[in-house]
Amino acid sequence: MKQSASWIFGDIGRLFYPQLCAGCRSTLYEAEQGICAACVAALPRTAFKSGSENPAARMFHGRVKFMGVHSFLYFHKAGITQSLLHQIKYRGGVALAYQMGQLFGHTLEPRLLPDVLIPVPLHASRRRERGYNQSEALAQGMAAAWHLEVNTNIMSRTAASRSQTKSGRFNRWNNVGSRFECRNVVYPKEIHIGLVDDVLTTGSTLESCARALEQVGYRNLSAFTLAYAEY
Ligand SMILES: [Zn+2]
Repeated sequence: MKQSASWIFGDIGRLFYPQLCAGCRSTLYEAEQGICAACVAALPRTAFKSGSENPAARMFHGRVKFMGVHSFLYFHKAGITQSLLHQIKYRGGVALAYQMGQLFGHTLEPRLLPDVLIPVPLHASRRRERGYNQSEALAQGMAAAWHLEVNTNIMSRTAASRSQTKSGRFNRWNNVGSRFECRNVVYPKEIHIGLVDDVLTTGSTLESCARALEQVGYRNLSAFTLAYAEY
């Protein structure tokens, strides 16, 4: 009884405040959240089979030795991934980020999973401004899919960097520096750490994060990004 009442009131609520799909803007059904089933089915998944032999992993050759680089979706200009990322980053889409993290998590094979996930940190001022870190919400969604730990304490961003989308791939390579630092790392050195970011464009952010972890002795690193921007 209670369940059917909440079902009725839930749907009446949606008559006044219809929840729209983050992908196609159609009205969501009661059982749907964030993104509709049709959009989930149509997501441009990379379906990379291995973490090492794929275009995202090849981007790091000669730069960082990741155990695996995993990207869930292709990013194309004006495509659904761009729209989802925009909502996740700039329009308060923290629940959407979590949901996308879960979807991503479910596509990963257990043998590829790290022991702990570390979301790429935002600079403290930007986190305050946005109210959340989209990469952290993604990581939490992934973690929920596999009961993984998420650590947001040991890595911090030392300087605000320019927006990733505003500078080209090659410009950003010049920006690689010590933009991240690790402190109070409590894990044994052999632990497998998974870095989580929203979009892989030039790889410079993940490269900087990996260097910060390598500096404090961690070598077993993987990278997980919601999107991979192809050029
Ligand atoms: Zn949709």
